[in-house]
Amino acid sequence: MALHRAAASITANELQTHVNVLADDSFEGRESGTRGGRAAGMYLLKQLEQRGLRGGGDDAGFFQAFGEGYRNVLGFLEGSDPELKRQVIVVSAHYDHVGYGTRRNSYGPFGYVHNGADDNASGTAGILETIDACLAMPTPPKRSILFAFWDGEEKGLLGSKHWVAHPTIDLANVAFMINVDMIGRMKGNQIEVFGSRTAPGLRRLVSEINFGSDLELKFNWELKANSDHHSFISHSIPALMFHTGLHDDYHRPSDDAHKLNPAGMELASRLLFGVAYEVADRSDLGSFRPEGPHETPNTQQQLEQPLAALPPRLGVRWYSDDDGPGLLLAHIERGTAAERAGLLVNDRLISFAGKVIIDQDEFRSDVLFADPKVEVIVERTGEEQPLKLLIELDGSPTRLGVAWREDAGEPGTVIVTRVVSGSPGSLAGLETGDRIYAIANEPFTAGRDIFEKLTTLPSPIELTIERGGRIESVSLNVPPPRG
Ligand SMILES: [Zn+2]
Repeated sequence: MALHRAAASITANELQTHVNVLADDSFEGRESGTRGGRAAGMYLLKQLEQRGLRGGGDDAGFFQAFGEGYRNVLGFLEGSDPELKRQVIVVSAHYDHVGYGTRRNSYGPFGYVHNGADDNASGTAGILETIDACLAMPTPPKRSILFAFWDGEEKGLLGSKHWVAHPTIDLANVAFMINVDMIGRMKGNQIEVFGSRTAPGLRRLVSEINFGSDLELKFNWELKANSDHHSFISHSIPALMFHTGLHDDYHRPSDDAHKLNPAGMELASRLLFGVAYEVADRSDLGSFRPEGPHETPNTQQQLEQPLAALPPRLGVRWYSDDDGPGLLLAHIERGTAAERAGLLVNDRLISFAGKVIIDQDEFRSDVLFADPKVEVIVERTGEEQPLKLLIELDGSPTRLGVAWREDAGEPGTVIVTRVVSGSPGSLAGLETGDRIYAIANEPFTAGRDIFEKLTTLPSPIELTIERGGRIESVSLNVPPPRG
């Protein structure tokens, strides 16, 4: 509750106000070491002082100077847990941009102020608002947070590289890093999340914080040296990065404040705050996954790849608007069990495996769950007596019609890899790619544990699933066990 209230203190209006200052022509594109860049640093210094944060830079001040007059701006919020506060979460954005633009850093035209409203006044504003929201909480999180505004990012991640090489707090105490770069141009309520593979369970953590928002999360496994999170991941510190996507004004003079999507920036910043506070506050924060940086979008595609669809067990279609009794067959698929058993179009299927057919959904799930050999009763035009036919169904019985795969990077969850059409899983609305997080509101440990729960809990069973970073619940009607 407190978290939601504090998140609500982050508003589109306040974010846009910070962006309007930082992306004003008077800051001349905030190039590191220039008059405009240093003026932007002063603005941030004042913001941190006003909020009563401690200096996190050199000599207990807010600046860390390096290079040709460059300055990281660093503010420290002490954690509330006597033990855990020694650990530090770095929450950051770069505040520099490319000044007037050159052939090396701009897509042109050159020689005009490049205001960098999206890149990265938007992220800088997001961090300022995240600080406010943290201060609006009843207590600071258990761990400490170092809020960092990096300089020199546009010159090759210089500020963050300098900091990890000359950290102002012991690098061994840095438990996690969160970075935002370009959160001002959200389209279609989507945000990209990078780094979710660098510690176990991060996809779930971010999705659970996202609960109740309209945001769709695009988890992207690509990790490149394209922003400051990279400097931390190369030091084996887990990191997340939020980003709302590239656009035609990227690294051009036209990346201006009025082109931002303030409502989207608000959604992104609220998510940023929620995740930052949660990471800093939860007692069990996972450690770095060395596999993370080696897992690529290709690895992701392989892991999330659905299984091939199964051939039908029976192979009939029927007139769904027919009044019955039973089902009037409209089509017999070639090479299926139905054809082998001699079922014909216009046969009326009265009973299946000893059960009179009343409900079409129930029939579908009975077919999927039936033993391989079943008896059916059909009425056929021209036959006086109903016929009994023995059918050898294809494939093996499946009770739920759902298959899943575990994910070593997200323990205690599974990815749905197959949903058989017409099965209880399909009727519940499950889709391939869904991730199952809880069964009947209980966590589970492994794929086998799921099977156990789904076959023993009373029906219907509530499943907590995540699809695109949105948590939902679906209700699974499980057919009773046979015999
Ligand atoms: Zn940037």
